[in-house]
Amino acid sequence: MLQNNLPEKVSQKEKTALTVSEKELLENAAFVQQILDTSPAMVIVIDILFNKLVYINKTSENLLGYTVGEAASLKREEMVHPNDMQNWLRFYKEVAQLTDGAVSEHEYRVKTKKGNYIWVSNKSTVFKRDESGAAWLILSISTDITAKKFAERKLSESDVFIETLVDANIDRLMAYDLNMDVVAWNKRCEEVYGIKKEEIIGKPFFNFFPKIKETEVLINALKRSMNGETVHIPIHPNIYTKEYSELFYTPLRDANDNVTGVLTIIHDLTERIESENELMELNNSLQVKNKELETLNEELSTFAFVASHDLGEPLRKIQIFSDRILKTEKDSLSAAGKDNFHRVLKAVTRMNNLLNDVLSFSRLSSTKDFKKKHSLNEVLDLVKQELADAIAETDAILESDYLPVLKCTKSHMTLLFQNFISNALKYQKKGNKPVIKIKYEIFGAAEIDHQLVIQATHHRISFYDNGIGFEIEYAEKIFQMFQRLHAMSEYPGTGIGLAICKKVMETHKGFITVESTLGVGSVFHCYFPDED
Ligand code: ADP
Repeated sequence: MLQNNLPEKVSQKEKTALTVSEKELLENAAFVQQILDTSPAMVIVIDILFNKLVYINKTSENLLGYTVGEAASLKREEMVHPNDMQNWLRFYKEVAQLTDGAVSEHEYRVKTKKGNYIWVSNKSTVFKRDESGAAWLILSISTDITAKKFAERKLSESDVFIETLVDANIDRLMAYDLNMDVVAWNKRCEEVYGIKKEEIIGKPFFNFFPKIKETEVLINALKRSMNGETVHIPIHPNIYTKEYSELFYTPLRDANDNVTGVLTIIHDLTERIESENELMELNNSLQVKNKELETLNEELSTFAFVASHDLGEPLRKIQIFSDRILKTEKDSLSAAGKDNFHRVLKAVTRMNNLLNDVLSFSRLSSTKDFKKKHSLNEVLDLVKQELADAIAETDAILESDYLPVLKCTKSHMTLLFQNFISNALKYQKKGNKPVIKIKYEIFGAAEIDHQLVIQATHHRISFYDNGIGFEIEYAEKIFQMFQRLHAMSEYPGTGIGLAICKKVMETHKGFITVESTLGVGSVFHCYFPDED
């Protein structure tokens, strides 16, 4: 029968009848019994010949939940976790072979009466042998290590989690201890260097990467990091690959804040550098193109200026001589001849206007007196005087808001006002009395839907007319050089006026928008960025 006390209980009467040595013996046995009962360890004696438990102490009873009687009839194999069975069987085979005094250790899971498993750390030794000397009784002492195992498992779960994170990183992550033995090596490192984790972990880093030892910047960073500093190297040519990287060295610390190693993160900059280089190249070629365009523009302006200026002289001569012939040869000329001369004079006037407009346009880009403050009211007064005849002829009404003082080129502003007002006077139905309104408003950037909005505030000068208007689909076309929507015979012009206005606004970093309704009128809005 399974016992819970080593010797059978001895009565007081029997005790007195014992000899002193027997008494001592019994006292010793009782002492051992006390130790066993108060021990935090589970003490069990197993008869391995009959494969049953012959003794369990109180702690075993408490931890496993079986009473002494129940434990006696337990099948030992049923108490072991299936996953630990193989090792457990091997362990007991090993224990049976132990020499006297030798101890074997093993960890496994034991089933409690409640059905759950507890982890035990077990030390076993042969306690008694049979006549043949074979192991018979095994003394097995176990401690409950469930909490420790749980903590370990928790740790290993978080290890897996950390490893997953480290491996998923697109940067190269490696860590070494203070001896420079590798302790971490992520998948990206494996890919880049072709060295597997199993090959490098626990080995000296410099055995694999000896050139790093000779690279002062990197060695310095490592040393500083081992001294507790976090070091960032913003850009460094890779030593073992062709590209560039930025490197981060972070000290690894234990629970007491002592540095135990260094984590290195290598972030590949190749793509960034390549796109930066591409951008730089693009920028350079843009600058070259810009320069070329500027030169071309200057050449064109000079050409336009020279051409229009030099053409003026022969034109004037044609005009003078045609005039003279018309006067002096008046009587000898036929009616058709006179008519032809009048046509020549008309064409000369048109040509003259054209040359003047081209000249004005070509002068726009070469003007240097930009950025002085001018009152646009003064500009308007000037233009009104210049257009006084046309205004009087058409009986036009011209109303204007009080206009601002802006940083601008006065000659440009004069051209702008001239062109908008003269167009407003010109593009009218015959007999219609032109009503021209010039309005001024200030707009915030958010209120303007235009890609060229560059400042928070814009001054808007608008030219409203009640003229013939045009189809809004031509809104862009009319700002191109020599583009006209109306017949020359009805509405004479050069097709340069609005191109001049556009250029004026560009030189002032502004822009023009237009609204028009056929037969109702048009409005041209000029937006000037506030430069104060
Ligand atoms: P033009 O010397 O022919 O007036 P512009 O460049 O000033 O040249 O104008 C280009 C064309 O835009 C004009 O030919 C005309 O068809 C149209 N246009 C310009 N301003 C107005 C306006 N206020 N009303 C209607 N059409 C206009």
